[in-house]
Formats: sequence, structure tokens, C-alpha cells
Amino acid sequence: MKDYDVKNIRYTVLGAGRSGIAAAKLLKNAGASVFLSDSSPKEKLLYFDEKEFAKHGIPYEIGGNTEKIFDADYFVTSPGIPPNSEIFLKAFDKGIRIISEIEAAYRFCDAPIIAITGTNGKTTTTELTGAMFRDAGFDAHVCGNVGLAFSEIIPKLGVNSIVVLEVSSFQLEFISDFRPDVAVILNITQDHIDWHGSFEKYADAKFRINMNQSDYDLIIINHDDGELSGNFDKMRGNKAAFASGYFDNTEIKNKAYTDGGSIFCDCGTAEKIIDTKDILLRGTHNVMNAMAAVIAAKKFGISNDSISNTLKTFRGVEHRIEPVREINGVNFYNDSKATNYDSLYVALESFEGNIILIMGGKKGENNFDKVDALIKNRVKLICAIGQSKDVISERYSDFVKVLKSDTLDDAVINAVKNAKKGDVVLFSPGYKSFDMFDNYEHRGKAFKEIVNNLKG
Ligand code: ADP
Repeated sequence: MKDYDVKNIRYTVLGAGRSGIAAAKLLKNAGASVFLSDSSPKEKLLYFDEKEFAKHGIPYEIGGNTEKIFDADYFVTSPGIPPNSEIFLKAFDKGIRIISEIEAAYRFCDAPIIAITGTNGKTTTTELTGAMFRDAGFDAHVCGNVGLAFSEIIPKLGVNSIVVLEVSSFQLEFISDFRPDVAVILNITQDHIDWHGSFEKYADAKFRINMNQSDYDLIIINHDDGELSGNFDKMRGNKAAFASGYFDNTEIKNKAYTDGGSIFCDCGTAEKIIDTKDILLRGTHNVMNAMAAVIAAKKFGISNDSISNTLKTFRGVEHRIEPVREINGVNFYNDSKATNYDSLYVALESFEGNIILIMGGKKGENNFDKVDALIKNRVKLICAIGQSKDVISERYSDFVKVLKSDTLDDAVINAVKNAKKGDVVLFSPGYKSFDMFDNYEHRGKAFKEIVNNLKG
């Protein structure tokens, strides 16, 4: 049992989203004095049900933050509030300590924790790891940014439970004691710089996943990622790494790598786990995700057979290179989660060619150079939509045909009209969705509905 007594400690939970509501209830049940505050109007709060919440006897305010929030020992923050915001500066002045929801929940968690972070691949790797542990008979609870909040699963944990937690840089920025038994950093590329202030601060937030780890714990990193391998010597705990090829590093006792055709794991002796062609998830990026999960599973003694069975059957997560339908030999994939060019790149890399690419969305900065070669070599037609359709057309029409459309329906129709047997229609927007949709889920569901309504 962790030794945290929250009785009579005053917590202001900022944000009535799923994790804020769950943290407020968890803390209240543990005897803390809790106040919940959200500046958004009621209609924007999808998870906040006043009647249901009132039953818990937690005072709250919505539609604005009043001075009442500062009557606290702790703030439990929401990712919506950047670290340098007024409200935090004022809290610091008053000696209020600021923690994220994962820190709040961690203090009540007695089960082992596998925490997974990175710029891309968190959800896929978290779900895959969860599946690996479930398939091996563990009572595995997947939570964090995916579905359930960490605070929500705390009451469900028993002696045989294990927590597989997706953590974002926002949540790591405000941890103090959080110490996962296994930490995974999948990759670090430019993202969320506005929120953190700079790339260095963003990377530092990710490294915080390791800051309390000890010799009993394992830190797993992507050895191909220079930002991660370059900082590996500064990290604490037992070190493990995965890479797209064999690597030699005496400091790293646990490693996973590919030889092009198979995944090997070396946690003492090198053992073959699976041929990459047998992994159900598509793409080399998913081989990397798989290797991270393999090392975590081996740490808990899961057998190679069980690991490889999960890799053969795990179907992936909605909106991530998700197979939708096949019509007359043309395969449709929904990759609406691709909100930047890093994700677009890995999606394009997952198919050998004959791609009809539906892309575009809210205008934003993107590293065009990154995907140029793949678009030239693998894409036969771009159907561009959204605010960025003109930019896309200007950039690519010299070397690939680009058709612009005002709606996603029209883009799909253009794709279908030009598709031949053996082609892949890939909806991998490469941009955020907010110009035309509420979020990437809304956008992905819209795409799937259009495709599912096409006549065979
Ligand atoms: P996250 O939760 O970090 O956003 P997801 O698993 O939801 O990660 O995947 C987000 C996007 O990133 C998807 O478009 C996916 O294809 C891509 N992706 C997944 N894993 C990786 C990886 N290891 N490297 C780069 N891109 C990845």
C-alpha cells in the first residue's frame, strides 16, 4: 500500500473532462476535500452529468473559474491548461502544488504500471501491450489517454492486476512521485510545441516518465531515435531498447531488433519472436511498436508463443490504418488519426504502391520534404480536401495528379472513379480535422460511413 493520506487535504480539480471527474471522485472517496472547476460552458462538457455528479457531494462550478479555486493545497490539472498560464502562476505564488491526474491516481495504485509515451504510437502500443497481457492471463487494465482514465480503474484493481497506461507529455509535465515499473518512450518528434514552450521542454516532459525510476524498474526506448538514444546515458533504472536493426550497446541488457524479416528479443539470450510478415498490424512503425510491447511482456515472463499469438491476432485501433472494406479488389483504409506528416509518412510506407490518397484538413505547419519521395513513388492520385487542399495541389501537382474537392463525399467519389483492382484508397489526411469536423474520430467515422454506403 502506498502511504499517502489525503484526508483533509484540499484539492481543486481543474477540468470536468473524463479524467478530471474521475480524479475528483477518487479523491473524495479517499477522504479529501475536493472542488471541481471548469471554465467551459455546460454544453461543451461531454462527460459532465450534473445530476450524477451531485450524488458524490463534491462542490463544483462550471462556465468560469472563480477565486474559490485557490482555496486549495493541490491543483489537479487538465491538459487544456498550458504550464505558463496565469492561473498556474498565481497558484505557484500561493504555494499550491500542481499535479496531473496520473499523479493523483498513481498515489492510490498498488498494481504494477507499464506507462507508454511518445509522439506517435502511444494508443496502438498501449492497446497492443494490454492485449498481450490479457492473452497471457493477466488482469490487465488499459487506461490513460485511451478510453478509461487512470483514476477510473483504481477501484477495479486487485492483487493480480497490471495497469497499462498511455501517458501524454501534458500529464508528465505535472508529475512528482509517479514511478512506473516499466516506462516506454516510443519516439520524440516536433509536436505540441505551443503548449510546452519549446521542443526541449516537450522532450524534457517525455523524459520525466523516467525521473523516479530505480534499479527495480525498466526504461524502454527506441534506439533509432537520436533524441532518445542520445540521452539514454542520463536515464535511470534498467535500460532496454528496440531498433530496426541489430545494435551493440553493453549498457543495454534487454533489447529487441529486427533483421529485416523477424523480430528478435535478447533479454539474456537472443530469441526469435515472430516473422514480421505474420504481424497483423501493417507497417514498419508497427513493428517498432510491437518490439516495445515485446520487451515489456518479457519483463513479466510472458512466453514467446503467447506474445507471437497476440501479434498475429491484434487488429489495431480504430482510425489508425484501419481496414474498412474491399470493393472489386480495391481496399479502403481509414487513417483519420494521421493529423500530421509523421503519421502520413508511416501510412504511406505501409503500402507498396498503387495508393489513391485522400488527404487534407486544417491548414498548419508540416514537414513536406518528409513525404515527397513516398508520394512520388507510391501515390497515383491525390484527392485533396479541406483548408489545405490548395497548398497540397501546389506542392504535388507537378509529379502526381491532384483532384480538389469541397467535401469528403466528393473526394471519395473521385477516388472510386479512378481506382482499379489492386489499388488502395487510403484516407490519411496529414492535417488536423477541425476545418470540417469536430475531431479525428468524427472525420474517420464520416469516411467509413461514406465507404460503407458505396454500392459494390
Ligand atoms: P498516439 O496515441 O501517440 O497518437 P496512435 O497509436 O494513436 O498514437 O497513432 C497515431 C498515428 O501515428 C497513427 O496515424 C499511426 O499510424 C502513427 N504511428 C503509430 N505508431 C507510430 C510510430 N511508432 N512511429 C510513427 N508513427 C506512428
